[in-house]
Amino acid sequence: MALRIDGKAISMQIKDECKEKVASYKEKGIEIKLAVIQVGNDPASSVYVGNKKKACAYVGIESLSYELPEETTQDELLGLIKTLNEREDVNGILVQLPLPEQIDEDLVIKAIDPRKDVDGFHPQSVGALSIGQPGYVSCTPAGIIELLERSGVEIEGKECVVIGRSNIVGKPMALLLLRKNGTVTICHSRTKNLKEVTKRADILVAAIGKPKFITKEYVKEGAVVIDVGIHRNENNKLCGDVDYDDVEPVASAITPVPGGVGPMTIAMLMHNCVESVALLKK
Ligand code: NAP
Repeated sequence: MALRIDGKAISMQIKDECKEKVASYKEKGIEIKLAVIQVGNDPASSVYVGNKKKACAYVGIESLSYELPEETTQDELLGLIKTLNEREDVNGILVQLPLPEQIDEDLVIKAIDPRKDVDGFHPQSVGALSIGQPGYVSCTPAGIIELLERSGVEIEGKECVVIGRSNIVGKPMALLLLRKNGTVTICHSRTKNLKEVTKRADILVAAIGKPKFITKEYVKEGAVVIDVGIHRNENNKLCGDVDYDDVEPVASAITPVPGGVGPMTIAMLMHNCVESVALLKK
C-alpha cells in the first residue's frame, strides 16, 4: 500500500512553525501585515480569500481586506497597489486571481513591489528562483517540496517528471526540483509519447488541469505521485488530475485530493509572509 502523503497534517505543522516565528517577531515589536485584494465576487475566489484570511488569523498575521467591485478599472487597482507598495506597515500584497477581463493580470503582477510579492508571481521572483537567489517562491510548488521532504522522499538524483508548464505551478515546480538536484523533465500538451516519459519518473507531479487524467498506465511501479489538480465531479465531490484509486496500488507514495497539495498552498503563503520580514530589509 502506498504512503498517503497527508497535506493537512504537514500544512498544520508549517502553520504552527509560522505561528511561533510570528510570536517571536511580535516580542521584538515586529508586526506582519498582508493586504488581500479581491476584485469581483467569484464564489471560488471568495472561498480561497476567506481561507487565506483565516490562516492569517491563526498564525497571528494581520490581514487587510480589499473587496473591490467587479467593474473596478485597471487604473484603480494599480493605484491601490501603488499605495500598498509605499506603505511601510504592509509586508505582503496578494491579488486573488483570476481578475475581471478589463484588467491585465500580467500588468498587475508586475506592479507589485517584488519585496512584497508573497505569491511569488512577479518576474523578478521567478528570475531569482531560476538563478538560485533569495526571493519568494510560488506557494503551490514550494508546498510540494515541503510535502516530499517532510515525508522522507529524497529528490537528489531522482528522475522527476512534471506534467504542466504553467507559470504558477509547472515551471517553478521544475526549477525547485532542479534546485534539489533532481533530474527534471517537463511535459505539456505537445509532448509526444507522454506515457513513455511519465513512466520514467521516480517522482511524478501532475499539474494538467484534467480530472483523473493520470491512470496506472502512466506510472512506474514504486513512483511517488503528486496530484496538483483540483476539480469538482458531477456529484460536487473534489478530485484531482490523478485517478487515485487506480494509481495508488502501483505508487510508493501519493497525495490525495482533497487533503494533499491543496492545504499546502496557504501554509506556504503564511511562510512567505514570515519570510517578508527578512526580505523587506534587503
Ligand atoms: P494550466 O495553466 O491550465 O496548465 C496546464 C498545463 O497542463 C499546461 O502546461 C498544458 O500544456 C498541460 N496539459 C494540458 N493537457 C495536457 C495533456 N493532455 N498532456 C500533457 N500536458 C497537458 O493549469 P495550472 O494553473 O498549472 O493548474 C493545473 C491544475 O492544478 C488545475 O487543476 C488547477 O486547478 C490546479 N491548481 C491547484 C493548486 C492547489 O493549490 N492545489 C494551485 C494551482 C493550481 P500546454 O502548456 O501545452 O497548454
